[in-house]
Amino acid sequence: MKNQDVLRGSCLCRSVGFSLSGGITAVRYCHCSHCRKFAGTSPAAWGMAETANLTVTASNSEIGKFNSGRGIRCFCLNCGSPLWFESIEYPQMIAIPLGVLDSDKLPAPKLHIWTQSKANWCCINDDLPQHPTYPEE
Ligand SMILES: [Zn+2]
Ligand SMILES: [Zn+2]
Repeated sequence: MKNQDVLRGSCLCRSVGFSLSGGITAVRYCHCSHCRKFAGTSPAAWGMAETANLTVTASNSEIGKFNSGRGIRCFCLNCGSPLWFESIEYPQMIAIPLGVLDSDKLPAPKLHIWTQSKANWCCINDDLPQHPTYPEE
């Protein structure tokens, strides 16, 4: 594995740190109401990774877990930052909010999903494809 393929992530207070080998794929903006609450804004930018590639490197704070229905939203119990999303349906995959990754070389989102739930104050100002719900892949 090339060193550049390892991404690092951390919460706002840096109590929780993690590394992610293999990079992220399927980078997208999600406009769903759950992500809006979890992120505190909308859309939320996410990338997918294999669960097996995630290693928690620092956990000086406990990691909170909330089941929002489709999956487990994990966050730092000290500062409240989102950390990652564990899918119930596809446990081999994990979703990472781009904002917690400490890299300036992340791939840009290529798609908007759940646009049927888009907040009225959110404007989409790009030409990326839009999907009203979740695209079959
Ligand atoms: Zn924290
Ligand atoms: Zn969402």
